[in-house]
Formats: sequence, C-alpha cells, structure tokens
Amino acid sequence: MNFKVPFNRPFIAGRELHYITQAVRQGHLSGDGYYSKRCQQWLAENFGVRQALLTHSCTAALEMAALLCEVGPGDEVIMPSFTFSSTATAFVLRGATPVFVDIRPDTLNLDEKLLEQALTPRTKVIVPVHYAGVPCEMDVIMDLASRHDVLVVEDAAQAFFSTYKGKKLGSFGQLGCLSFHETKNIISGEGGALLLNDPRFVGRAEIIREKGTNRSQFFRGQVDKYTWVDVGSSYLPSELIGAFLWGQIEEAERIIADRRRSFDAYLEALRPLQDAGHVQLPNIPDGVSNGHLFYIVTDSLQTREALSAYLLGYGISAIFHYVPLHSSPAGTRYGRAAGELPVTVATADRLLRLPLFFGMREEDVAYVTGRLFDFYCPKGKGGCGGV
Ligand SMILES: *Cc1c(COP(=O)(O)O)cnc(C)c1O
Repeated sequence: MNFKVPFNRPFIAGRELHYITQAVRQGHLSGDGYYSKRCQQWLAENFGVRQALLTHSCTAALEMAALLCEVGPGDEVIMPSFTFSSTATAFVLRGATPVFVDIRPDTLNLDEKLLEQALTPRTKVIVPVHYAGVPCEMDVIMDLASRHDVLVVEDAAQAFFSTYKGKKLGSFGQLGCLSFHETKNIISGEGGALLLNDPRFVGRAEIIREKGTNRSQFFRGQVDKYTWVDVGSSYLPSELIGAFLWGQIEEAERIIADRRRSFDAYLEALRPLQDAGHVQLPNIPDGVSNGHLFYIVTDSLQTREALSAYLLGYGISAIFHYVPLHSSPAGTRYGRAAGELPVTVATADRLLRLPLFFGMREEDVAYVTGRLFDFYCPKGKGGCGGV
C-alpha cells in the first residue's frame, strides 16, 4: 500500500554509500575491518563502556549476553512482558525461564517496585527494556540487582542516545544491547551492538563472537596462532554493514535531533487531547528521550481499532504494540508471569504508534495530528480543550 504518511521510512543520512565503496576498494569485506572498528571505538567512547562489539542484530547481542551470563535450565530471567520476542528468546535458547513482570502505567517500562517480589533464589539476570527510548528507573534496578547478586542486561534496542540522569542508556548494566534495524534511530538494515561494561566479560565476548576462537587476540599479536577455545557462534557483521553504519553514526546527533523535533511537535500538538482525557501521551520522568517512537494510549481496544482504521483511511500508517509475551504461544510454553499483569494487558489493547522517521516534515506531523483532532473532536462538538 502507498501511504501518504508511512509508519517508517529507511533513510540515508550522509556518506553511507561512499563508505561502502571505500570498504570494497580496501578489499576487506569480512568482519572487524576499518569502518567496523571505527564504529566500535566511537560507541565505546560515546557510551562510556569498556568495549563495544558490532553484531548482526540486537537479538544477536542479547544471545551473546545470555551466553556470557551463563544462564541455563532452571535459571530465571526477569523481564517485562511488554516487549519484543528477542528479549525472551535469547535466554530461552539457553534453557532459562523468562519471568514476566508488569510495567508502569506512566512509562510503560518494567515496574521496578515489582522486582523484589519476582526475585527467587534462581534469578540470574534482570533485563530492563527501555520502551520507546524512555529510560527505566536504573538507580533502583542497579541497586536491587547488586544487593541480590543478579546481573543486569539492558535491552536498549530502542534507546540509542537516550539518557537517564545524564548517562546514556545501555551503559548501566553489566551488558547493554543496541539495535540498528531499519526501524530504529540509527540504522544499518539489520545490525546491533553489544556494550560491555564489566571487565570480566571483555575477553570472552570476543571469543564467543568469533565462533569460539581467540582470533581477535591473534590479530592483536597476543597469541601466535588462533584456535577453538570456547563455545561461540558467528555474531560479527560484514564490513559492508560497518561501513554503512559509520555513515549513520557520524551523523548521529543530527539524526536524533531530527526525530526529537517530530516527537516534540507531536507532544505539543496533542497535549489538548490528553488534557481532555482522550489519550495518554509519552512521559519521561528521569531522562531525555531519543525521540524513537511516539505513541498514544487510547481509552479502549474499540477506540484504538476505530482510530487506526480511521487514520488508514487518510493514508496514515499507525500500528499497535505488542502481543504481551506472557500470553503469546511461546511465552506460555517457555516463561511464566509473576502474578497478574494488568497494566501490560490494558496497554497492549490500547496503544497506537504514530508515524515517526528521520526527515519527517512538519506538515506530515500536522497532517497526522489534524486527523486525530478530527477523530476525537468532530466539528461542532466540544471537549477537546478549546481546539
Ligand atoms: C527491535 C528490538 C529488538 C530486536 O532488535 P533486532 O536488531 O531486530 O534484533 C529487541 N528488543 C527490542 C525492545 C526491540 O525494540
């Protein structure tokens, strides 16, 4: 379908194609070439972590994290149910059990107040997911995790350049996972990165990523031949991905600023609908969002469905999020819910994501918000804050 305003539009920010050409000319197309290394150095410096490793996806980074945390059958991993399947399946692949916790109604992030009661002697890891680039309460989560000797793996797939109390998301936990999927803020088609904050994981992460070999040490001259030393898989992307990604990363500030402009324009324009009690808008209590995703929460499933059909009629693509994992076919098989998850269930029924992408024009945002006002406040009727 040809949308007037699509939900997402993959983009070129600057010199991506030029760098791909350069990479081809340099004759190094497998992983960890010149551009991949530049990306990794930049990520490590900008996020303030010990090491950053590019991966094929955030899912791959989460899988590496699960291997590094050495979870296995019987171990439990606490995470929200309101998230993408990757958060859970990375740990399920190791035989661990996801324990799904409810979210906060204001931020739609894992409710830190419910963590204590979800902990058991089998809990090994907590996975905060920064939904929509909105930060989880990291002070509370890190403090609780260290008191209970539990690791923290941040699913920061949506959170590139968001901050919590001035510090970048993905840099709080022992491990952090980023996504460069074409729907995220910074893109390479498919792609991701594992951020390593804890020195104990640094050497082993390189080995797991290189098919269980110590090839990275060999290339640095630290061993005189390389061999199979540990479990692992192939998690490193080709240099073509690294070259494309470098073209995005060097424009990161501009890309994020562009998204934030559209995000702020939505927030500003739709506030009267929130004041009139029609919708709930994003709320960012303790940080700065990266403008990843703009959502509204309607009053009911019926309204959400009617609204998305209405917008579709005007060529606007607006999409729900997520089927909660605890009630999904695989979630019921492999995981368990920590009690009732009323906020998760109610949110999943009522949330609608609006179009937001790099290069979205002011008039696109105005077109979408205009149709929302038409829907909620048909001419002649009041109740929309004087609009
Ligand atoms: C997009 C996303 C992922 C998966 O990222 P990929 O790079 O596509 O593997 C994982 N978790 C969350 C919360 C996401 O939004």
